[in-house]
Amino acid sequence: MTEKTLFQKIMDRELDGEILYEDDRCAVLRDINPQAPVHVLVVPRKPIPSLDDLTEQDEPLIGHLFTVARQAAANEGLTNGYRTVFNNGEDANQTVPHLHLHVLGGRRLGWPPG
Ligand code: AMP
Repeated sequence: MTEKTLFQKIMDRELDGEILYEDDRCAVLRDINPQAPVHVLVVPRKPIPSLDDLTEQDEPLIGHLFTVARQAAANEGLTNGYRTVFNNGEDANQTVPHLHLHVLGGRRLGWPPG
């Protein structure tokens, strides 16, 4: 059996974390090192390492992550916009090899990202 990812351990309550929402397919976690006043992560229960590992079978799951992201943004009071980001691989600074959708907001976000 492969070792659980960091996010699996948080979702399984083996590590501390602030879980804001969960259902049978994903959870919303508060980011431990926020890059904006609101920074949460929508994490699928399935430990897909990155976007490069997606299959067609995962397409409904990815759609679900976005509807949960929209609801999380609303719950966090992000009425003036927000950003959703999947970092993929080294050049994008992906640090946790378990797919997660960042939801960032609460301030004016710069573009292009650094
Ligand atoms: P990425 O760099 O796209 O892989 O994003 C990983 C995110 O996970 C970063 O924004 C980290 O701050 C966040 N993170 C790392 N460890 C934890 C943790 N224990 N609980 C919540 N978020 C975490």
